[in-house]
Amino acid sequence: MELKLQPLNLPSDNVRPFVIAGPCSAETEEQVMTTAMQLAGKGCHIFRAGVWKPRTKPGGFEGNGEQALPWMQRVKEETGMLVATEVATPEHVELALKYGIDVLWIGARTSANPFAMQQIADSLQGVDTVVLVKNPVNPDLELWIGALERINGAGITRLGAIHRGFSSYEKKLYRNNPMWQIPMELHRRIPELPIFCDPSHIGGRRDLIAPLCQQAMDLGMDGLIVESHCSPEQAWSDASQQVTPDILDYILSMLVIRDKADGGDSLSTLRKNIDEIDNDLIDLIAKRMRISRQIGEYKKEHNMTIVQSKRYTEILDKRGAQGALLGIDAECIKGIFEHIHEESVRQQMQIINQ
Ligand code: PEP
Ligand code: MN
Repeated sequence: MELKLQPLNLPSDNVRPFVIAGPCSAETEEQVMTTAMQLAGKGCHIFRAGVWKPRTKPGGFEGNGEQALPWMQRVKEETGMLVATEVATPEHVELALKYGIDVLWIGARTSANPFAMQQIADSLQGVDTVVLVKNPVNPDLELWIGALERINGAGITRLGAIHRGFSSYEKKLYRNNPMWQIPMELHRRIPELPIFCDPSHIGGRRDLIAPLCQQAMDLGMDGLIVESHCSPEQAWSDASQQVTPDILDYILSMLVIRDKADGGDSLSTLRKNIDEIDNDLIDLIAKRMRISRQIGEYKKEHNMTIVQSKRYTEILDKRGAQGALLGIDAECIKGIFEHIHEESVRQQMQIINQ
């Protein structure tokens, strides 16, 4: 289905990308107003705060609900900023619109659920507002596009996407694996769709926000949505990933915005793709080594030799042939596997001799 899109028409200044900033949650009227005043003082145009919070487990702070909506109205009236919040049900949509919320976003847990998306879409029929759809928690581009299509099908043309990374069982550097190739593919498939990056939920850590913002800009993303709180350490949700408005302003002021070379694959985009693949390669090699060490344990228990030459020859031949089929020189692939095997053997030696 082809999306019918119009520009978001959101305020931004000429030097910076679109920036939506504000706390993870609207905790108290005072926290909302203090943070909003500080952000407005730094030239921020769009304020975010979660009024309904989807929490992994019960018992966490699940948001103030409707009682926080008048605080958002106050932000609008007293600072002139537009206001944004997450909606997950038709009731949320109705209340958010009633209180004049300008930008609605749909969270990652909701966009993963087609039933919930359709209900939200139905509740948006005939409404003129901006809707941003976060990527689903799982790395499924079709599901993300499906969620966007449902909202667009309800007549919402001021539509955008938010890239917030993808959850994975193994926790690595990032809270949510960015898998940049997915938003890049979304851009290739729907070039007019604006994409925002959410470095707070990707990184999960304050110190990762600046590099992630820069990476998003280098990849040509259209905007940022960043969690900012007047006293981040005291935040009731996502405390480790929020920054003060002051720090956010500093991070934004350091961003280097490069020209989008012909809007297509600029050199830096291609290099970022390569970096991403290299990262994946190293992760995979590390995984392979872990299994190799388990084999080492087995060989030790069963008194077997480390190098089983039949198996080794089989790997080299099989992978060499597979490489050749994919247009890579068989000798090159064999060479790579020789190195990998050598390191595997070294690691198994360590286990057997310990
Ligand atoms: C949020 O923006 O605070 C949030 C809950 O995000 P996500 O849906 O990306 O987890
Ligand atoms: Mn959050």
